[in-house]
Amino acid sequence: MTVNAKTSASSANTWRDLPAAQQPEYPDTEALRAVIADLESYPPLVFAGECDLLRDRLAAVAKGEAFLLQGGDCAEAFDGVSADHIRNKLKTLLQMGAVLTYAASVPVVKVGRIAGQYSKPRSKPTETRDGLTLPTYRGDSVNGFDFTEAARIPDPERLKRMYHASASTLNLVRAFTTGGYADLRQVHAWNQDFVKSSPSGQRYEQLAREIDNAMNFMRACGTDPEEFKTVEFYSSHEALLLDYESALTRVDSRTGQLYDVSGHMVWVGERTRQLDHAHIEFASKIRNPIGIKLGPSTSAEEALQYIERLDPEREPGRLTFIVRMGADKIRDKLPELVEKVTASGAAVAWITDPMHGNTYEAASGHKTRRFDDVLDEVRGFFEVHKALGTHPGGIHVELTGDDVTECVGGGDEIFVDDLHQRYETACDPRLNRSQSLDLAFLVAEMYRD
Ligand code: PEP
Ligand code: MN
Repeated sequence: MTVNAKTSASSANTWRDLPAAQQPEYPDTEALRAVIADLESYPPLVFAGECDLLRDRLAAVAKGEAFLLQGGDCAEAFDGVSADHIRNKLKTLLQMGAVLTYAASVPVVKVGRIAGQYSKPRSKPTETRDGLTLPTYRGDSVNGFDFTEAARIPDPERLKRMYHASASTLNLVRAFTTGGYADLRQVHAWNQDFVKSSPSGQRYEQLAREIDNAMNFMRACGTDPEEFKTVEFYSSHEALLLDYESALTRVDSRTGQLYDVSGHMVWVGERTRQLDHAHIEFASKIRNPIGIKLGPSTSAEEALQYIERLDPEREPGRLTFIVRMGADKIRDKLPELVEKVTASGAAVAWITDPMHGNTYEAASGHKTRRFDDVLDEVRGFFEVHKALGTHPGGIHVELTGDDVTECVGGGDEIFVDDLHQRYETACDPRLNRSQSLDLAFLVAEMYRD
């Protein structure tokens, strides 16, 4: 089939005829147009061939042969683009990946919520403090976090800052993952600053010793595989701001097809997944692997319609359902979805996001999550798949490599009264490094059982 490049490029914009939820209202549309024109001239952040490779990896997840670890900040921030923050986050994901690969004996596909996760859907358009009502913060790509009138005005120039922040982040991630830092022989080094202070760090150290022994054994046998020296790592974010995503959508010269080159994988969130609206239309035009968040109101019929719209060829790896029901609903709601989707012959990857259905406000006013609820939702997800004989394909979590106090519980327990100590998130509460490692160990146990 030959594809007319012109037709394809314009089809990145067919969403413009449809209602688009959660888009900023820019006061100056001329300025927005100029920014879009600039973004259209910028080089891709990722190569379309990498998106295809990730689709192959996710196909293995959909077929039950691999496990997806997807994680990172709820909202990245421009002032978080520093070597320390990026290294800590990556290190946490690499440690979780090592735990899952070794303890669950399964290939782990590693995808960050990173290098593009700057835009947030919000449940309320405004926020009131001390009698002052202002527009809500919608992520650094839209407006400022400060509670001032000036900061909260959407500024299209921020779309360009998002592009540059994503580019610098991705550059460092690529350097770390291919330049030696992610070498499995560093499995101890990732833990150095951590081991003494935390139970999960100590547990990790034990596992790292076993990995070391296994590698020494292999070396002694005369084999030292290249696979140990680098890590395949992919970027992902919510495709929320369609002006940005479509400006970064390009025709791939190899295939003549459209790819959103702002990240390897993009997902459509719970608040923007209306079947006849703009976000699903946009997602249907691009070849990237697509995720759809499925909340507790999702019907099986809806799930089947996502497949019709986004994966009509039933191509494993194309579509990932990221289920975020809440610990109290997952066991009731998920079975029918999995049963009907499986019966339809589609091979989607099923992933659990055990964060977004389990958020509550502590008495102190902090938005938080209980580690035990997160764990319970993951357990429910595994139970449902086990009962149906289907594959629990992975986890999607909000985490940071920093020592924050945003979620309560975990082996190195954070109490409600600790929340104020290091509550740094710009949006939802994240697991800290110790809680993330705890989760990886517990998930590995569930996977093995
Ligand atoms: C998110 O992933 O940060 C998010 C807003 O999730 P959801 O769309 O599932 O609510
Ligand atoms: Mn979130």
